[in-house]
Amino acid sequence: MLPNDRSRAATRTLATLNSHGACVRHPHPDWWFPERGQDDADKALRVCASCPLRFMCREYALTWHEEGVWGGTTDCDREELRLIARPLDWAGMTLPGLELGETA
Ligand code: SF4
Repeated sequence: MLPNDRSRAATRTLATLNSHGACVRHPHPDWWFPERGQDDADKALRVCASCPLRFMCREYALTWHEEGVWGGTTDCDREELRLIARPLDWAGMTLPGLELGETA
């Protein structure tokens, strides 16, 4: 059951992914929610690479902060994409050994 706070568009997107994604009815759905390490994630990423919905799927996961492999990205990949999209998030970060505002 979907959470009530998702928009109708998000609900339609999820329904499309759940009916037309390359992972639908895959014999190893656990690959998309890897708990056994990167090997399973790599297998899921290979399936995603052939999926025509991967862009839509990635945007959905980015928007709704989903966990696991979505749209050919892992949790870490999507966190990097969020940081790249919001450069101000980097403003408070410094390299080790440098003071805030100091450049290497
Ligand atoms: S991109 Fe990957 S996770 Fe998304 S629907 Fe396609 S196969 Fe499934």
